[in-house]
Formats: sequence, structure tokens, C-alpha cells
Amino acid sequence: MTANEVTEAIRGRLIVSCQAAQGEVFYDPQLMARFAAAAVAGGAAAIRANGPADIGAIRGITRVPIIGIQKVRHHDGRLLITPSFESAQALVEAGADMIALDCTVRGQATGAFNRMSEIRERLKVPVLADVANIAEALAAGQAGADFILSTLRGYTEDTSHVRDFDPRFIEELVRASSVPVIAEGRISTPGEARRAVAAGALAVVVGTAITRPTDITRSFSAAIESEYRRRNQPSHAIGIDLGGTQTKYGVVRSDGVLLLKSAVETPAKSGAHAVLGNLKSVAKAATEQARAAGYEPVAVGVATGGWVDPETGRVVYATDNLPGWTGARIGEEIASIAGLPVAVENDANAWAVGEKHFGAAKLFDDFVFLTLGTGLGGGCYVGGDLNRGAHFFANQVGHFPFLPDGRACTCGMHGCLEPYVNASALICYAGSSYTSAAQVIEAANSGEEIARGAVQTLARHLARGCATFVALLDPQALILGGGLTENNPLLLSVLNDEMAKLVRPWKNRELRVMASELGYYGGVLGAAALAFERAFDSDGGQNYGHTTVRVG
Ligand SMILES: [Zn+2]
Repeated sequence: MTANEVTEAIRGRLIVSCQAAQGEVFYDPQLMARFAAAAVAGGAAAIRANGPADIGAIRGITRVPIIGIQKVRHHDGRLLITPSFESAQALVEAGADMIALDCTVRGQATGAFNRMSEIRERLKVPVLADVANIAEALAAGQAGADFILSTLRGYTEDTSHVRDFDPRFIEELVRASSVPVIAEGRISTPGEARRAVAAGALAVVVGTAITRPTDITRSFSAAIESEYRRRNQPSHAIGIDLGGTQTKYGVVRSDGVLLLKSAVETPAKSGAHAVLGNLKSVAKAATEQARAAGYEPVAVGVATGGWVDPETGRVVYATDNLPGWTGARIGEEIASIAGLPVAVENDANAWAVGEKHFGAAKLFDDFVFLTLGTGLGGGCYVGGDLNRGAHFFANQVGHFPFLPDGRACTCGMHGCLEPYVNASALICYAGSSYTSAAQVIEAANSGEEIARGAVQTLARHLARGCATFVALLDPQALILGGGLTENNPLLLSVLNDEMAKLVRPWKNRELRVMASELGYYGGVLGAAALAFERAFDSDGGQNYGHTTVRVG
């Protein structure tokens, strides 16, 4: 076949990779041929297969194009795809219509490009370049590859951090490459295959998710067993809530009961190194206390001030509440101390997760959580998922522009919402007759007019801020936590009434304004909820692409 004929045969179609390794149940050319037959019957336009024996057997049952590869264990102990001209020749003789070979930097070092020319010239078949990054794709294109495949992304040293199928990489590859791109690697669902096509791929190769019954079974059994354990056997997690003044922690049972709790001072003024050291000793103490009490923790959750990349567990940005905290590698440090999976999240986001698992938001998929105290923070769920934003900076409700040239804010700007609705604002509205926000709230509850007026003023300002995101998100509930909302029914009722005036249409919504029920340790419960998610959702093998590492 010519490259043009191949292009027309596979354009907009599925290619199924039919492979089994030595020792696996289906390691047998006749059985691979059966898999290929099933794939073709289901709509596969081509087959990718390993070794002359399998290819010969597959050629015997179908006319669809076959991409031939030969996996060989290289001197470095790792598999290399089609490392010699002779192996390519054997594949073509067995019935392969084209040859794929490793064109990563490692493959190039074994002479991939010379081999590519030799295969094209002497065997007269198209050559497909398996690559892992853009530079390799460009080099392979210049060397004469007829197609580029994303097969090896995630399997080379410079891409080992990649664990999921990434359609954005396919998009970049398509944009950069002068030859057609075929998407391959960790595509586990029809939805991911669809995204590969949307990203511009000519065709899509799927392997494990179709032709590895043991791996597919493992993913189902792990998901079922872990979900059953989660629902029927109480488990325990450590929650740590790192604030600017206090670090609270506790042991939380999977139904949300706080079993052990404690708090220590956060050495914020002593710098990031001291804060991290303190956090590590808290994690160590909490784990030891849990075990001593007979609760084996499944994971540790850390809620922290600042914004966090939940994948890496690192602080992307922190304000001067925690000086030097930007860049802190919380996830890695705590995992090394506790020896457990660790989840890290912004504190207000974590509290919102706590509300979803254990609190007022159990039945809501769309809600906004606000924490009012020294500052104003928030976390929101959209369509059942925590909204983190493109750069993990979402939900900065405290820094909504509120008044042009208004009061100075901790973020360095003027006129943000936060300085109008935080604890010092409440004291200020009460004409400085009180020294703490708690005193103002207590006085308001006992009918003191100045204090009631102060709470009302704060609630009116807060309503304006809330109206903005109600207009944007149309949530089912607005849940308020933090010091200013405890024992403060007046705040809730005025907030509700004021929002009714600002939000249109109001009557068509069933927006509920509610107080958090999680209490003083809400951040700890939220951190623990994230720990349970980490322990049960991400490691449960929900997606078989994640649990098994298979190259090509
Ligand atoms: Zn601000």
C-alpha cells in the first residue's frame, strides 16, 4: 500500500492494537487473530500487531491494513519498537502493510532514521514514527516518516510525568507536524477517542481498553471492591487545616465523624521552612495518634491557605498571610512523612468538598460555599465537580472588584469585596464600640441596635458580591461558614432578603441561603473528604489506562 492509500483507508477510523505479552492468557497468534476479527467486525479500519507470527495469523483472517511492529528488549533492559531492518522485513513478509518504529530520542540513538529510509526504499511500505514529543515528531517528519503516532508519550524520560491521555498534545502535534497524525496511547474510553479526533487526529489507535481482558477486568474489580469498602466498612483519614494562625488537625471517619481533634500554632512569621516543618510534625503526630487509637488512616488531606495544583500537591501562589509559601511542595513532603496518599487543596475549596461529602451540600451539585472571617474565601461546585479554574485560581470571591478606589485589600488592590465583609469591617460598621466581631454578633443577637445595624450593613455588601456569582453560576445553594456566620441568624436572613432584591428572576429559583453545619473544624473535615477522594476515587482503577503501563 502507498501512504495515500493508507491515509484513505484509515481516515476518521479506529485502529485496534491487538497484542499479548508472553505469559498472558491470550499470548497465541490464533487468539490474536480472533481479537483482530472481533475488532474488524466492530468497525476497526486497521490493526496494529506485534511480531511476524501474530501478523501472519491476522493476515490469514482479514484484508484490513496491518501496522507491523516488533518489540525487542534492548541492551538497556527496556522494550524498543522495531529496532532493526531485518525485523521490519520479517513483518512485511508476514503480511504487514506498513511499519511503525520508535523515533524518540532513544530510538533515534539506535539509528531509527536510517532504518526508516531503508524500510521505505527497500520494502516499499509506509513508515510510522512512534514519538513522545513535538521535537521528535518534527525530526521524524524531516527524516521521511509518512505518519506520526503519539504512542510513546508518557513512556520516555522527559514525558514520564504524563499519565493520562492529553488531547492538547495531539492538537499541538497536528499543528506542528507536516505529515498526518494518528493518536495513540492511554485512550481508554470512546469519549477520549472522540476528543482525539476533535484535536485533529487522522485516526485513533486503541489497544488495552479493547484487547486486554485481564486489565479491563482488573479496573472493574478494583472499582467495585474499593467502592464497596468505602460504603460498607468505616475507614479513616487524617485532615489537616493549615491557616495563618492555627494548624488544626483530626482523624475523620468515612461518615464524617470527627474522632480525634487538636490544634497547634502556625509559625507563619518564622517563614515557609518553619511552616512546612510544623506541618510535617503535625502529619506525623496525627498519623501516630490515629494508629494508637486503632484507626488505620487511608490517606492524608491538607487544606492550606494559597492556591494549589492538586495534581502535584504544590502551592502555586500564596499571599503574605503565609510568607514564602508559594512553591511549597506539600504533597511530596507529607507523603514521605506519612507513607500514605496525600491530597492537597486550597482551604476554602477543601471546605466546599467537606460540605459536599459531610455537610449541607450533600444533595447539591451546584453550590457556592463562602467562609467569612479575617478574610473572605470561597469554593464552588458546578455540575457536581469542584470548580478549580484553568490555573487553580478560581473562586477568589474575596477579590471581586466591589468599589472603584475603595478600601485597601490584602491582595494589594483597592476596592475588593473582602475589606467590606470581613471581621474588621463588621467592627468598623459598629462604630468601634466593640473590640471583636464575636462581640458585635452577640450584641446583635441580644437586640442592640448599633450591632444589628452593623450586621445588616455587612449583609447588604455581601449580597451585592453574592449576586454576581449567582448571576454567573445559578447555584442551588449558598452555604456560609467561618467565624462571622456562627450564631448569626440575622446575617443569613438579611443576606437572603437583599439578594431577592438584586437577583433576577428570583422567584423562579430555589436558591437556599444556609449556614454551614461543619463547625470550627470544617477545614479539617474538608481536608479529610479530599483524602477519602484520593484514596478511593483516583486509585480505584476507574480508568484502566491509569493502572497499567503498556507501551505501544
Ligand atoms: Zn483583594
